[in-house]
Amino acid sequence: MFEYAPAPESRAIVDIKPSYGLFIDGEFVDGTGKAFKTINPATEEVLAEVAEASDADVDAAVKAARRAYTRVWSRMSGAERAKYLYRIARIIQERGRELAVLESIDNGKPIKESRDVDIPVVAAHFFYYAGWADKLEHSGYGSTPLGVAGQIIPWNFPLLMLAWKIAPALACGNTVVLKPAETTPLTALLFAEICQQADLPPGVVNIVTGAGETGRAIVSHPDVDKVAFTGSTDVGKAIARAVAGTDKKVTLELGGKAANIVFDDAPLDQAIEGIVNGIFFNQGHVCCAGSRLLVQESVADEVMERLKRRMATLRVGDPLDKNTDVGAINSAEQLAKIRELSDIGEAEGAERWSAPCELPSNGYWFAPTVFTGVSQAHRIAREEIFGPVLSVLTFRTPSEAIEKANNTPFGLSAGVWTDKGSRILSMANRLRAGVVWANTFNKFDPTSPFGGYKESGYGREGGRHGLEGYLKGEDS
Ligand code: NAP
Ligand code: MG
Repeated sequence: MFEYAPAPESRAIVDIKPSYGLFIDGEFVDGTGKAFKTINPATEEVLAEVAEASDADVDAAVKAARRAYTRVWSRMSGAERAKYLYRIARIIQERGRELAVLESIDNGKPIKESRDVDIPVVAAHFFYYAGWADKLEHSGYGSTPLGVAGQIIPWNFPLLMLAWKIAPALACGNTVVLKPAETTPLTALLFAEICQQADLPPGVVNIVTGAGETGRAIVSHPDVDKVAFTGSTDVGKAIARAVAGTDKKVTLELGGKAANIVFDDAPLDQAIEGIVNGIFFNQGHVCCAGSRLLVQESVADEVMERLKRRMATLRVGDPLDKNTDVGAINSAEQLAKIRELSDIGEAEGAERWSAPCELPSNGYWFAPTVFTGVSQAHRIAREEIFGPVLSVLTFRTPSEAIEKANNTPFGLSAGVWTDKGSRILSMANRLRAGVVWANTFNKFDPTSPFGGYKESGYGREGGRHGLEGYLKGEDS
């Protein structure tokens, strides 16, 4: 293996303040509650103190959003709203390096990914939905907004999940109160500054930081018209229960346990790259990660040999190093969960292999790991690990592959690797998954709807379909 000299990205471009308030009605204000710390998971360095929004703060944010909705945003023409969205998209591009560095510091993801994937896709979402703002009458869902949207997002793609939520909501004429995850609030707070820089009318976007309690306050606030949530299936179910019987509209983007299916006629070198990207991209903290590899028995040995050889070349370490492929696990809690499920995998009889790599002594790290000899009953084949851990199962026929792939409570995504176009189509028709990638994996584009079946949630984000969750429908 080659030795590379370190190539660290400078963090001088970001200006992290010692403490942050809440972004309400266009201003940063002190919270009335407590504060919490956000850290850099690669070093355990405390980055900043962040306000924990209380019920009263959430109420102030919802009131600001309501005022902005009634007085300004819902009255503005779509073409005018679009100008703000285009402006935000351009500022995101201009400040892309700053956003990428900050995202990597607060989240632990490699700079290569925040720079080349997260931030460009964030900007693309704002550009894409800016284009819809004055064309809603052609959406098929009417052009009447819902009102105030309460939005709650996870830590794995902090700014990208914010973009998926805020861009369509604003394009449709709604105003928002958004809560970022407790471990990754900083890019959402920088986005608040970008809203100021873009002269977005006060109250159209409100950012309230905090933990689960703040999320609960948003969900249960009586003046919120729409709840949009991305996160775990358990919290998603609790939210569905909390809004049952109210007029609130809900979309839920939840967990996954995607099958990545490799047939014996697949171009194996590309398939290996796809397997690696499928599970080790973003440390495997990806709801649609290809965490179950289903490989055809006739090529299983060869695939495993090539996969291990490739995994041994993955560079694990400093997220700000431009050579890094796999960064830090986002939190001590998440690391504990990954370790626990992996230990269970071993105890249940699967064989564990981890890439030989030196892990830094500070921070939270987990070596890229693969389990073979996994059976469908194993917990590592059924539960979402949400880390750099791949479970491998084999199959003989396409029908067996379908049966195993669909044997999960989730249904978010799947991958198919084969040389035959007809097989791709027949597999895609039979897989119970919201997204099916063929001879590629983890491709995201704002024009393409994303979302799940079964316990992976309901509603779609992205594309024309992504407008549905923020409009009242054709008849109103
Ligand atoms: P989580 O614990 O459900 O947290 C998600 C968000 O909800 C966080 O902002 C969290 O705040 C907040 N929250 C926690 N309890 C709440 C409650 N009772 N009421 C309202 N809000 C509450 O999920 P996570 O572990 O951070 O994220 C990983 C999960 O997200 C995985 O299961 C993954 O598959 C899923 N995910 C799905 C998609 C998709 O598009 N389908 C995309 C990305 C991730 P705190 O941060 O303070 O806990
Ligand atoms: Mg953090």
